[in-house]
Parts: sequence; C-alpha cells; structure tokens
Amino acid sequence: MARYTGPKCKLCRREGMKLFLKGERCYGSSCAMERRPHAPGQHGRRRGRKPSDYKLQLREKQKVRSIYGVLERQFRIYYAEANRRSGPTGENLFNLLEKRLDNVVYRLGLAPSRDAARQLVRHKHVLVEGEVCDIPSAQLRLGQQVSIRPKSRNIPIVVDAVKAAGKRDRLPFVEADDKKLEGRLIAEPQLTELPVPIQENLIVELYSKV
Ligand code: SF4
Repeated sequence: MARYTGPKCKLCRREGMKLFLKGERCYGSSCAMERRPHAPGQHGRRRGRKPSDYKLQLREKQKVRSIYGVLERQFRIYYAEANRRSGPTGENLFNLLEKRLDNVVYRLGLAPSRDAARQLVRHKHVLVEGEVCDIPSAQLRLGQQVSIRPKSRNIPIVVDAVKAAGKRDRLPFVEADDKKLEGRLIAEPQLTELPVPIQENLIVELYSKV
C-alpha cells in the first residue's frame, strides 16, 4: 500500500501541533514545532483570516490522515466502513484506525513511530497470536496478542523504542509487557484518551457533504 514519504515535520507545522510522527525526536528540543511553530512555506508566518467551516473540516481530516499514515483513498474506505457500522460514524472511524496492526505495535511501544511499526510488520518481525502477520492495516480484535518474533528481539529499533516507551505512560487501552516484547489491546480505544486531540465530528461533516 502506498504511503506518504515527504517531510513529516511539515505535516505537524501545517496543522499547528505536534502529531508525534518521528519517534524520540518529537519529545526533544530538536522537534520542528519547538523551533518553527508556524505553517511551512513563504507565507507560513502570516496571520490568516478566520478559517471557514470547510477549511476546519478539511484540516481535521488531513491531520488524522497524517497521524495514522493513511492516504486519501484508503481513508475513504475506512469512512465508508465506519458509516456502514452501527453507532456514531466518527467513533467507528477512529476505532478502525486505532485497531490497525501498525498502530497497535506503535501504541505498545514496540516501535518509535507508526512508520517504523509499519516497516517491522512488512518485514515479518511481528506476530499476532504467535503467527507472522505482514499486513500493517490488519484489524486487531480486543485481547489478541501482538509480539515481536523471537529472532527479531535484538533489532536496535525495537530495543531503543521499548526503552524509550518504558519512560512514558502507555495509553489506558493497551497492556504491554516490555520484557517479553508483547502486548494487547485490552479495551475499546477512546478518543478522549489520545495525546493529540481529534474532532471526529468535523470529518463526518466533511464527508457527509460529498
Ligand atoms: Fe517533527 Fe515529531 Fe516535532 Fe512533528 S512532533 S514536528 S514529526 S519532531
């Protein structure tokens, strides 16, 4: 599946907030949002007019796409599925994105970023219920065990990520065992528990116009 390969910090600067796309660097003083906290480009420092409703909705959608590393086409497929399911569409959408395997590997602290998690999955370093799963977008169910393949436990990116994640609080809906390099989703992810605020209603408003 294709993915965005351009500069990550530009995405944070465009949204005016840290999206935590680069692992450890995002927590230090070299984060671009600490040094240049304005939009990228020649007119980035200009104060714009009050944004229209459409602009707010569009930016929220782009922000969520950037966070989860999902391109437009795939995002629309997620939206269609979220809309088809019972319950609030915005919450369903967020639930589908949070339960992607690459996202869970990242949330468990087994990779420094979703991009790195995606690469670990693609290169067959990740097991789901003891079986190799190399599909980053695979949907996990609550309680399914996610672990690093025994042969891959000494990969520096995994070792460093677990060490760094151990210093921070994990989100309440995941349970991680840093010694065994494994973990699972133990509860339905809640929007209110995320480090980056998401207004899912704006995305629903945007797509319901089309
Ligand atoms: Fe770059 Fe991470 Fe800072 Fe975003 S949060 S600007 S990705 S270093």
